[in-house]
Amino acid sequence: MGVNDGAQDRKWRALPPATELRGLSGYAFPAVPNPEIVTTYLLVNQLLGNEWRPRGEVASQQLVQLRMLLRFVEQQCPFYADRMRSCGLNAASLKSLDDFRRMPLLTRKDLQDSADLIRPRSLPSGTRKTKELSTSGSTSSPVRVQSTSVTAALWFACCVRDFIWANVDPQATLVSLRHFSDSFTAARTPEGSKISTWGPPMSQIFATGSSFVMDVGMDPDTQLALLLRTDPEYVLSYPSNLDLLGTMLAERGARLSRLKQIHTIGEVLPDPVRRKIQDVFQARVWDLYSSVEVGYIASQCPSGHGYHVYDENVLVEVVDDDGRPCPSGESGRVVLTGLVHYGTPLIRYDVGDYAVALDEPCPCGRGLSRLSHIIGRQRGQLVRPDGGIMFSSRLSVAIRDAGAIRQFQVIQHERDRVEVIVVPMDGFGAGQEKRIAEAFQREFGCPVKVSVTRVQRIERTPGGKYLDFVCKAK
Ligand SMILES: [Zn+2]
Repeated sequence: MGVNDGAQDRKWRALPPATELRGLSGYAFPAVPNPEIVTTYLLVNQLLGNEWRPRGEVASQQLVQLRMLLRFVEQQCPFYADRMRSCGLNAASLKSLDDFRRMPLLTRKDLQDSADLIRPRSLPSGTRKTKELSTSGSTSSPVRVQSTSVTAALWFACCVRDFIWANVDPQATLVSLRHFSDSFTAARTPEGSKISTWGPPMSQIFATGSSFVMDVGMDPDTQLALLLRTDPEYVLSYPSNLDLLGTMLAERGARLSRLKQIHTIGEVLPDPVRRKIQDVFQARVWDLYSSVEVGYIASQCPSGHGYHVYDENVLVEVVDDDGRPCPSGESGRVVLTGLVHYGTPLIRYDVGDYAVALDEPCPCGRGLSRLSHIIGRQRGQLVRPDGGIMFSSRLSVAIRDAGAIRQFQVIQHERDRVEVIVVPMDGFGAGQEKRIAEAFQREFGCPVKVSVTRVQRIERTPGGKYLDFVCKAK
């Protein structure tokens, strides 16, 4: 499983010829595949071509998309029409991203409070509404967005691109341990659900192997038993779940002998967790950054140089606290604009994540914009006694270093009082509790009251997410 070589990639050799598309059986002549398959195929082909365009060309194409989006919301969404008027912006005069940045940031609260004024009066002709999507709302009230036939089609194409970049062998076996809707009861059985393909969109384009799925809310022992029984080449799940399953695998001295790659989704992947998952499972980790609101945001550069943004789907800005773009290499808030998301337009949406942008061109030759790291969620950060934000990644490492911890969750009740909930392993005692308390004094740089609570299990949120840091302090 080597890293893709950029030069070889230019041949876009990953897609089969159109005449070999899946779903052709039954149509001998002429070969007419299912229209949905054609859409995915054509879109994937476009994406795989786009990524080799020069950076400037990709950026000017995004500006064209932005102009179309602004023209749409000017006419369709009173909320944005008002905002544009008050900051003196109109679609026809949009010349650059600097013009665009006059738009104020859109907050989660705006989306919740002004949903009726953000929702367009009608959709562009030919675009259909599909599902309404909702964030899990584990620590705050959920955000709802309307997906459409266009966002759904691009979601499929981005998914295929992610697997192509990850250089998977689609004929192998895949196990997905993630959140599934309540109606999918087979994913909540001890055996999990076996499917003869990887499911759409991969099964539309490639002849795939079989897959197994299980809801991440199932008991970790049951999930581990599924992995050991199926011994897959690929596993897809949330970093926190893989961290826990990896600890359990190591405790048993077992290994998954065929495993080639682990796909992490749904949560930020801190470097120490990435290294641990890699070491314990002895497999490469492939990370995807996405959100319910806009879908695919970025995934790893196939040549290993950070992350590439899905520029066709979303405009990503990394900005400082005053909303100005951060210099290359510095961290800031992630601000998203959905370029095709006309069901619920999201313009300069402060999604609550932090990342590090990179301006330099990628050595792999792709012209897509770049992030070096996705460093954490604002929602999952703690607050310092002086009111500043405390990134939790260093604390996370320090707590793990205390030793004999299978899983933990930090709840900050007040600015100077935290509770650390621990699922202990053998050997966890007063010494470990002392080291945890010391880590907080060190990282906060001032006295903090730390209590440790031992439990058997830490539950996930109804949406399947696991929160390692929860801030209840104001
Ligand atoms: Zn690259």
